[in-house]
Amino acid sequence: MSLRAAAPVATVVEPLFAQEAGSSHASFAPPPRRVDPAPATLRGMDTTTTLTVPCPHCAAGNRVPAARLADAPKCGRCHQPLFTGAPLALDAAGFERHARSGLPLLVDFWAAWCGPCQQMAPHFGAAAALLEPLVRLGKVDTEAEPALSGRFGIRSIPTLVLVRDGREIARQAGAMGRDQIVQWARGQLAS
Ligand SMILES: [Zn+2]
Repeated sequence: MSLRAAAPVATVVEPLFAQEAGSSHASFAPPPRRVDPAPATLRGMDTTTTLTVPCPHCAAGNRVPAARLADAPKCGRCHQPLFTGAPLALDAAGFERHARSGLPLLVDFWAAWCGPCQQMAPHFGAAAALLEPLVRLGKVDTEAEPALSGRFGIRSIPTLVLVRDGREIARQAGAMGRDQIVQWARGQLAS
């Protein structure tokens, strides 16, 4: 069952950055804005903690000390980087793995038919390079994973949901630019 069929009230949210630019024609560039430097660790994260970070390539759980997250850790099984600077496409199993790794998981609920989702995709991708390794970014195709979007009560797309320790801690509907995504996520995790 598709999201459209399941939720006929689903709406597509216009990009915030187009409104901010004060222009009616489509803009893919957010207004220039300074991005705060990445924090070394997350608030509430003990640097002596060891996380179990799932490999994006082979799914193996890798024990990584929080203090070593920024040292380009590689998977002990397949030897590929644990962080690639890009969002991961998540199915239900992948979602469960990454939602409980100890790292916050920022999920973009999207669909191929959604224009604003397509507009936001490169911004979300670029945000991954800035937010990793303190935040894992993933994408859930609401058409392919209706159970996940149903579980989170997704009514409009794109919607970003920030998950920590398996629980939602914040959400934001509507397309955003790269810097907005980064600042929003960091703000939620700092508060
Ligand atoms: Zn691996």
